[in-house]
Amino acid sequence: MLTVAPGILLWREWLAPAAQKALLDDVLARLEQAPLYRPIMPGTGKPFSAQESNFGPLGWVADKAGYRYQPTHPVTARPWPDMPPALAALWQALAGAWGTDPPPPACCLVNLYRDGARMGLHQDRDEADTSAPVIGVSLGDSAVFRIGGTSRKGPTRSLTLASGDVIGLGGPARLAFHGIDRVRAGSCGLIPGGGRLSLTLRHVRA
Ligand code: FE
Repeated sequence: MLTVAPGILLWREWLAPAAQKALLDDVLARLEQAPLYRPIMPGTGKPFSAQESNFGPLGWVADKAGYRYQPTHPVTARPWPDMPPALAALWQALAGAWGTDPPPPACCLVNLYRDGARMGLHQDRDEADTSAPVIGVSLGDSAVFRIGGTSRKGPTRSLTLASGDVIGLGGPARLAFHGIDRVRAGSCGLIPGGGRLSLTLRHVRA
């Protein structure tokens, strides 16, 4: 485990290639039940460049009404698929690293970055309870991840997230601004059709 900055913890290659492939297969099967879709930014009405879906009891969605968690897929109106067991186990193994014992994650937000998709600098702050860390798993092409402090105007740094890497924001960094500058197309052949999947685990409500 590498401490990037206080509260920002990085586990390089936490998932070996065989585990990445097994997790990918599980994720792709669940995405057939909850198809990836393109959310809309509440302010501008512009579509995200990444495609999203969710697993677990609550999913994070964005549309003209705002950002929120809800128990159903906004397009199919069906409940989100269950959390993949490998991700529940990963949370169990790593979420205590900030010195607390948080409850299981209610949400796994899935982001697929293809063809120049990116994610602007933002905070994960739609959770009613931010006492637990946010833990993200990367699969597929490497990404340039940007991370700052809890003020939008503060300094930032970038680091590469590769397939199998796990990064977590907790404690003093739980509300750190972060985003994806770009994805290095073709850097990893894991995802059919290319690109990067991020799987972000979050505790949502007290
Ligand atoms: Fe985020």
